[in-house]
Amino acid sequence: SELITIDHLTKVYPTGTGGFKALKDINLTFRSGEFSGVVGPSGSGKTTLLNIIGTLDNPTEGKASILGRSVNALSSKDAARLRNHHIGFIFQTYNLLPVYTVYENVEFPLLLLDYSSDKREKMVMDALSWVNLTDKKDSRPSQLSGGESQRVAIARAIVKKPELILADEPTANLDAKNSYMILEIMVKMNQELGTTFIFSTHDDKVMKYLKRTISLEDGRVAGDEQAKA
Ligand code: ADP
Ligand code: ADP
Repeated sequence: SELITIDHLTKVYPTGTGGFKALKDINLTFRSGEFSGVVGPSGSGKTTLLNIIGTLDNPTEGKASILGRSVNALSSKDAARLRNHHIGFIFQTYNLLPVYTVYENVEFPLLLLDYSSDKREKMVMDALSWVNLTDKKDSRPSQLSGGESQRVAIARAIVKKPELILADEPTANLDAKNSYMILEIMVKMNQELGTTFIFSTHDDKVMKYLKRTISLEDGRVAGDEQAKA
């Protein structure tokens, strides 16, 4: 079924000189279970598109429906609720909280939701086992390698079992070995949990894994291709 529909979407950032058009008449749909990516050169609009899909930013013109909700009509409170329950975010810079342990970082999104502490513990340990880091649960982010940090960020993104994960340049700061390791983890989640993934990337290693590649050029969709089976 359709998870996301984007209809004649335009995004204009305000500037001193009348505004900068970062996205121009975007029309796209994403189905549940996709493993897709938005690719294109720096400045082509990838992050802007992911931020709108993640309800972190609003369209200037056009319509978008995310997980059945029209983002045009969504209050900021309802957008936060949608993110907290249904969307996981992975960033190139991990964004871990330095004073908390690995366990506490992964538990963090659950504290906004209504789970008992027993249930939370089960969910955190399950997420940590997905990324093979149960033995690091008491470490702090400063004690982790880049690859381990990104795996903690993945555990934090999946701990609430979201339908949708948005991964903005997730391999940008990783070497090849760690990039392939996190890609394999995400493919497995896609296959076994049915989680929908949308990446933004200009990394060839990520592109090889994508089942669908949407190319942006200068704020427009310049290509939309399914991988050959
Ligand atoms: P990408 O992720 O492909 O590098 P972005 O979506 O980050 O592209 O940016 C697209 C364009 O919009 C760029 O030219 C960028 O400079 C511009 N842009 C992004 N954010 C803002 C902002 N807050 N204000 C003004 N311009 C912005
Ligand atoms: P609230 O409005 O409840 O404080 P936020 O809008 O701050 O919630 O964030 C809701 C969710 O969106 C968080 O759980 C987080 O995963 C994600 N999120 C939003 N923006 C960011 C960001 N800049 N860095 C990391 N996570 C973010």
